[in-house]
Order: sequence, then structure tokens, then C-alpha cells
Amino acid sequence: SIQDKKKQVQAVVKTFPDFPKKGVDFVDYFSILYHPKETQLLNEIVIEAVDKHFADAGESPFNMVIGLETRGFFLGMVLSQHYNIPFVPIRKKGKLPGETECANYATEYEEKNAAEIQKDSINEDSKALIIDDLLATGGTLRMAYDLVEKCGAQVAASLVVFEICVLEGRKKLKDPSSCIAIYEY
Ligand code: AMP
Repeated sequence: SIQDKKKQVQAVVKTFPDFPKKGVDFVDYFSILYHPKETQLLNEIVIEAVDKHFADAGESPFNMVIGLETRGFFLGMVLSQHYNIPFVPIRKKGKLPGETECANYATEYEEKNAAEIQKDSINEDSKALIIDDLLATGGTLRMAYDLVEKCGAQVAASLVVFEICVLEGRKKLKDPSSCIAIYEY
């Protein structure tokens, strides 16, 4: 069952207190990728969660996947291949060639960041599914929603593997229920 799969994956997740700063409980997404079987199970869990989220939606509720650098790239790629829709990265400022849209943001442990998306990868018909590993204060996901809207596109939903619920990052999102979280911490 899905609950058994979730337990099996959770069993390999490592957490590191006070990394990279005191007071941050770091949840190490890469500890899953070390285990190919559990990584495959997580792929299945995530696809099932996305399908469930959109069960009552019409045809093709999203038509692109946006992955947040770096840990949103892996599942972003999996979902893009599964649904046969484009994968588009959001990267730290200065990494993407061509015309870009840019936004500033802060995270649980990094105060000043800027990120970009390539303008020719997204348009007014785009309905994005945004992927990251973890939702903490919500600064990162909020930035991604803002970038999509700046490009004239829509956010269909977002998905994170882990949500640190006490930080209430979900509240930063225009539609808090638009974020799918697999594990709540
Ligand atoms: P935030 O913008 O505060 O929601 O932070 C989310 C982003 O920072 C994600 O891209 C995570 O990879 C990273 N991050 C923040 N807090 C943690 C944490 N406790 N463990 C792992 N990654 C984190």
C-alpha cells in the first residue's frame, strides 16, 4: 500500500540537527537517492499524490514541470517524463543563458538569493507544476510562484517531498492548498 511505501522510504531519510546553521534541522533529500529501490518507491508515491490532487480536475490541469535548483530537478525530471510534458529549471541567478525573468527571495538559512527562469520556456498558456525537495519558510516556493506569474503563466500546483510545518511556509502561498507535501515534519 501507499502507507507501506511511505514508511519504507521514510526509514532511509537522514536528518542533521544544526546544519548548515544552528537551529536548522536539515532533512537530507539525497539520503533517499542513495537507495535506488526507495527512490523508485518515492517516484511512485509522488505520481500517485499528483494524480490524487488533480483527480477532480479537467483534462491536462498542468502542462509543464518546473524544478527548483538543485533538489527539485530529480523528481521534476521523473514527472516530466511520466506525463510527457516539458521540464523547465529555475536556477540561481547568472546560470541560465538567454532572456530571463528574475526574482529575489530568502530561505530558512540563506538570507539573500536571486533566481531566474528562461522566458522562452514558459508563456500565457503554461500551467506549471512546481517541484522542490522541501518547504520550510516558504520563501523559495513563493519566489517560484511569483516568477511563473511574472511570465504571465499559472501555477497549477506545487509539490515538495518534505514540509516543516511549524514554519508555516504554506501561508506565504497565494493558495496554500495548492502545495502537495508527501511528508510532514
Ligand atoms: P524555504 O524557502 O525557507 O521554504 O526553504 C526551502 C529551500 O531551502 C528548499 O529548496 C530546501 O532545499 C532548502 N531548505 C530549507 N530548510 C531546509 C531544511 N531544514 N532541510 C533541508 N533543506 C532545507
